[in-house]
Amino acid sequence: MEDCIFCKIAAGEMDTKLLHEDELVVAFADISPMAPVHALVVPKKHIVSVEEAGPEDRDLLGHMIHTAQKLARDLGVSESGYRLVINNGAGAGQTVSHLHLHLLGGRALEPRLG
Ligand code: AMP
Ligand code: ZN
Repeated sequence: MEDCIFCKIAAGEMDTKLLHEDELVVAFADISPMAPVHALVVPKKHIVSVEEAGPEDRDLLGHMIHTAQKLARDLGVSESGYRLVINNGAGAGQTVSHLHLHLLGGRALEPRLG
């Protein structure tokens, strides 16, 4: 999708350093980290949000979580704990209109959500 920053990163058009890449997803560090470990898992397919994902995306959605699990191990937070977050829609804080999963860790995270 034109002018989508995450499509550009996924297509290798930015010099973003990838932490992971396979046929379905890329992962990279968040440019404005909220925790010592803050990575994003992004599908190569342009899907706007969870709300826009269809039944055909079921395996892709599962793969995003599996990728986050692998990244958490690679980044050393699987033992200490981590949080996975997907914001859906502007009202929930989604600022980039291309589906992405946040992996947050490396510090104590407040038990309270929202
Ligand atoms: P959200 O608010 O859930 O839509 O999350 C979007 C995230 O993308 C924010 O945490 C931004 O800091 C991050 N972000 C935006 N542009 C870039 C970029 N070029 N590289 C890495 N992270 C980015
Ligand atoms: Zn996109």
